[in-house]
Amino acid sequence: MVMGILKSILDAMMANKVITILSVVLFAFVISTTVLAVQKNDQAAEIDDLRAQLDASSTPSPTTTSEMEQTTFELTPTTTPSMDTSPAPTTTTTMATTTEAPLPPDYYRLPNDVIPLHYDLWLHPNLDEGTFTGRVSIDVSVVSTTRTIVLHSNGLTITNPSLKLETSFTPITLTPQFDLEREFLQLNVPISAVLQPDTNATISMSFSGKMSGKIVGLYSSSYPTENGETVKIATSKFEPTFARQAFPCFDEPHLKATYAIQVVHPSTNKYHALSNMDAKETLANTPTAGLNTTVFNPSVPMSTYLVVFIVSDFEYDAVRITPSLGERFELRVYTTPFQIQNARFARNTAEKIINHYIDYFNIEYPLPKLDMAAIPDFVSGAMETWGLVTYRETSILYNEATSSTANKQRVAEVIAHELAHMWFGNLVTMKWWNELWLNEGFASYIEYKGVDSAYPEWGIMEQFALDNLHGVLTLDATLGSHPIVVKVESPNQITEIFDTITYSKGASVIRMLEDFVSEPIFKEGVTKYLNKLRYGNGESKDLMDQLDELFKDPSEPDLSVTMVMDTFTKQKGFPVITVARSGNQFRLRQSRFLADPNATDTEESEFGYKWYVPLTYITSEDSTTVKRAWMLRGDDQVSIDAPSGSDSWIKLNHNQVGYYRVNYPENVWQQFSELLSKDINAFSIGDRTGLLNDAFALADASQLRYDLALELTRFLAQETEYVPWATVSSKMKSIRTLIYDYPAYDDILLYVRQLIQRAYDSVGWTVVGEDHMKNRLRTTVLDLACSFGHDDCLQKAHELFRGWLDSDVAVHPDLRTVVYYYGLQRSANITDWELVKERFRAEIDANEKAKLMSALAGFPDAKVLRRLLDDAWDPQLVREQDHLTCIQNVAANKHGEQIAWDHVRINWDRLVERYTLGERNLGRMIPSITGRFSTPVRLMELEDFFRRNPEAGAGAAARVQALENIGNNIKWLERNLDIVTKWLSTAILPVPVKH
Ligand SMILES: [Zn+2]
Repeated sequence: MVMGILKSILDAMMANKVITILSVVLFAFVISTTVLAVQKNDQAAEIDDLRAQLDASSTPSPTTTSEMEQTTFELTPTTTPSMDTSPAPTTTTTMATTTEAPLPPDYYRLPNDVIPLHYDLWLHPNLDEGTFTGRVSIDVSVVSTTRTIVLHSNGLTITNPSLKLETSFTPITLTPQFDLEREFLQLNVPISAVLQPDTNATISMSFSGKMSGKIVGLYSSSYPTENGETVKIATSKFEPTFARQAFPCFDEPHLKATYAIQVVHPSTNKYHALSNMDAKETLANTPTAGLNTTVFNPSVPMSTYLVVFIVSDFEYDAVRITPSLGERFELRVYTTPFQIQNARFARNTAEKIINHYIDYFNIEYPLPKLDMAAIPDFVSGAMETWGLVTYRETSILYNEATSSTANKQRVAEVIAHELAHMWFGNLVTMKWWNELWLNEGFASYIEYKGVDSAYPEWGIMEQFALDNLHGVLTLDATLGSHPIVVKVESPNQITEIFDTITYSKGASVIRMLEDFVSEPIFKEGVTKYLNKLRYGNGESKDLMDQLDELFKDPSEPDLSVTMVMDTFTKQKGFPVITVARSGNQFRLRQSRFLADPNATDTEESEFGYKWYVPLTYITSEDSTTVKRAWMLRGDDQVSIDAPSGSDSWIKLNHNQVGYYRVNYPENVWQQFSELLSKDINAFSIGDRTGLLNDAFALADASQLRYDLALELTRFLAQETEYVPWATVSSKMKSIRTLIYDYPAYDDILLYVRQLIQRAYDSVGWTVVGEDHMKNRLRTTVLDLACSFGHDDCLQKAHELFRGWLDSDVAVHPDLRTVVYYYGLQRSANITDWELVKERFRAEIDANEKAKLMSALAGFPDAKVLRRLLDDAWDPQLVREQDHLTCIQNVAANKHGEQIAWDHVRINWDRLVERYTLGERNLGRMIPSITGRFSTPVRLMELEDFFRRNPEAGAGAAARVQALENIGNNIKWLERNLDIVTKWLSTAILPVPVKH
């Protein structure tokens, strides 16, 4: 049966993309009367528009399996021009699995013989059927002579494609041809109508597709009302390559066009349609009774991935914005009707932030309205679709009674991130996805300015290093890292770079850039860049060129912004600056920082792993004036005069703004420890945090004696600030995990309990007032104290847990994570566990559900945890998008580490079936659950697992990372166990006798 053969070929293609990339071009499906619909098993990997590490909890639902409806077709070799250089296929009926010639560099790119100018798009999502139909007319401009028009389409049924030349009134019928691997729709023009350069034409066609069982493209969603009824909605998510699943289009970011959109929706039950632009009119009973058609005003020029439509009955909370620049416009926050009261915080926050950005960019908001919508079960964090930003509910809704301070901060951060994109990303867009960092790094940095303008008392700027820099410095010190600017071509590769390097390293180097060119110059350069390229596309070079015109450092006149930034964006890794004292001078040298001191990189860098480093420093003589110097790429060393006195010091990288680490002579580290123990304010919060972070990274890499790093932690006995505590908290937990099987384990528990006592007393268990930083500190300190067995903390958590479980006494949202987790752990009672599980099952609030799931996974009994993992396959209990997080939660519990690892190995095929290998979060789960392993046996198990399951899919880099991690843990114990044990035994104070 032909259809059966085709389906099995398709399945094989999906199972083995690597070897099929080439062979797939051997297929083209020539359809005379086109009724071909392929629901391609696309990478369900959803694109989080948020910093990857914040979205670890969100994994997408898989898409449905391949499905075909087909009447007649035949397989013929493709005639796609870009394949001219490839070996000619010898057969069209079997897979050419041996063909491994390199792909042409532009293999996945559209030929650009014709480019789009304007789309007239009519769409009818059928909510009941979970399908949609549409019509599109695309005005195109012909760039070079061609007989083929190539655009994107994926999973769509195309009917009646035709062409109208500007010189003729008669439509010409086109012959469609599909290239499934590249998601191309090729429309062939008859020889009589060859397209000529510098002419315009209009291509038109009808299409249809499916919305149900999907999570990207145009897709179905629903939510339960308070009465238990289900309301169906339609919504969309196109970034990076999913617009082609909703309508045929030229789906590359540089191919901007204007859009005139019409959306059909039910005329009953308060249904309405939303899109990027404001509605011009709503046509009643059009196209038929019971349906209305909303006609939207034509859009500004924009990229396909920024198009959006929503059909829903959402209500809104609105405010009129009167900006300092440009016209007034309305800001609306849409939610499901019963949650509208939770939209107020987002509305107020967005109002402040949008006004701030208009002032900051000095460019008016480019559209006539700004909507934001909370989408039920939205799979990623949020998406900056222009004029109608879409959010997961937990990223926008805030309810004082259930949301914690951390939840509230996240809402503000996500809003600030997305609104920054309205200019940076939407008004000016990267030319191609290899420059994604420019969009995401910029928004991930500017969001801090946005939040800071709205809530200056939150200390958000101090949190940058904690939330972005520390994590990415760890990752970027491994051989498995990659440069920020990286070549990407296929949809899978594009998906994979929505990662920590793109977001957090991007943001960190932009922060450093702003610091060395100065804030006003950075701002001016950004505004010039945006104005010059508005409604167009740019690349890093365009921004750097603008800054080069404005910035010149008189001390280094030959140095340009471009030269500096290239060394940070075009090679992986970063430097460590090593300080040595020589007489009256400090001598500074740079070398690449690697987590493994014995690692050698076989990958070469055009910059030789040397950087142009903007140095900042303070000295013992003057610790308030920040001075600057450059370390050039070719510099052997840089000398800085030392203040007088043999014990004078220098402290580099003020507030850890630079993307580098610093190492000092041992006696200077000791001096820093003593200084801080005497006076915690000897260094700023940023410097205290930076010293802690550097010291442990250096010690882990054998560049600093471990006892000196530990010695530095003593000042925390006086510390009452959130950021230093959060920094040291994660470090102490990871050391504890490594020494779990050794006698030093008890000592580290005791040491941390003693260290934290003052902070513990200062925060207390009562949340009062709006002291944001204190609230963040409280959650961190209580969690750390309980985690290290602080008796009073555990007892209090258990009391509150009992009150909540037995008598429904609500716990303050800030305390819930700690109370649920440690309360249940301390109770260690299976009946309690069952009760919590039932509350978890019944809970509809996503934030609350996550807290309860974490508590269930923290139970101290392996049998119970095994049951939880088995039960987690039931989507009625654990939503598919939370399943991988559940496994990771179990693995994070010492009692569950082995259970989770066994579970994943036994159920790997089932997991692959559920999520597909293209789901990058599945691949990333492996380093997460094995990251605490520290024995050669475990390493062998992992190697064995990879041997048995050689297909890594989108998890290839994650596998390298997992092996590197365990190797580093093993070496860590060899190198540091003795010294850590010795230091801890002397550091712990005698337990005070209570009277
Ligand atoms: Zn973004």
